[in-house]
Amino acid sequence: MPESPDPILDVDSIDVFYGPIQALRGVSLRLERGEMVALLGVNGAGKTTTLRAISGLLSPSSGRIVIDGNEAAGLPANRVVRLGVAHLPEGRELFPEMSVIENLHLGHWVARQDKARQKELTDQMMDLFPRLRERATQASGTLSGGEQQMLAVARALMSEPKLLLVDELSLGLAPIVVRQLFETIKEVNRLGTAVLLVEQFVHLALEYTSRAYVLARGEVEMEGNSKELLASPDLIAAYLGSEAAPPPKPRRAPRKPATASAARRSSAARGRKTAR
Ligand code: ATP
Repeated sequence: MPESPDPILDVDSIDVFYGPIQALRGVSLRLERGEMVALLGVNGAGKTTTLRAISGLLSPSSGRIVIDGNEAAGLPANRVVRLGVAHLPEGRELFPEMSVIENLHLGHWVARQDKARQKELTDQMMDLFPRLRERATQASGTLSGGEQQMLAVARALMSEPKLLLVDELSLGLAPIVVRQLFETIKEVNRLGTAVLLVEQFVHLALEYTSRAYVLARGEVEMEGNSKELLASPDLIAAYLGSEAAPPPKPRRAPRKPATASAARRSSAARGRKTAR
């Protein structure tokens, strides 16, 4: 997608600290309206911190964040919500004592405060996730993990976001449930909502997005086209570790066993690619 003068999100060179610890160093990224983009990186790379800075839960010490044309760096989260940002946090953060329906209502109320619209959207969410209709009055803390994640997605959508931030949707869920949730997010994206997706299942994230940023040690290490990355297991392994590469395909004929010197050469090459 070519760069437009009017992106939904423009993060320009932000630094974020936790006390004396610098978690982000000059991170820049942008999302065009309606884009779905992955934010990848190994544990501790700074993905969650980036999402928290965008949604106003953390304040960058320097740099700019522009959301839908508005300066947003340092704005509190309740103001950022009103700019059209919904954050689906890692760990869902539902109110466990509150019912499904109360959680949904809250998702709308923090951003919009329109009773009629709140009712309409609640019905839409129940259509999108019929399981939530069946569980409407049940305390959310008693739902299964998959149902809780459905509720978290639905609650985020209740604010009718222009930009949805998704952190580790797949956490602790069965693969089939994860697929269903990804399909729902993709559908929401097709209807016009831009999505910035943090996901440990790298292949899944690349499959559903058009572009990806890779963070390492709090910096953007690379940016690329998701399809191209998906087709380059070597690149994925170099930037995201060998665990992120798909399992090797079975070989037709046995190969010559690798020599110790070949193994040394390949591990030296990996070291060069990841070193900064
Ligand atoms: P993961 O995939 O493990 O969730 P991540 O890429 O989301 O990792 P962050 O959670 O953003 O990474 O963390 C980035 C860095 O900031 C890490 O070095 C982490 O230890 C540090 N960090 C995160 N939260 C805090 C905190 N509350 N106090 C101090 N340091 C923190």
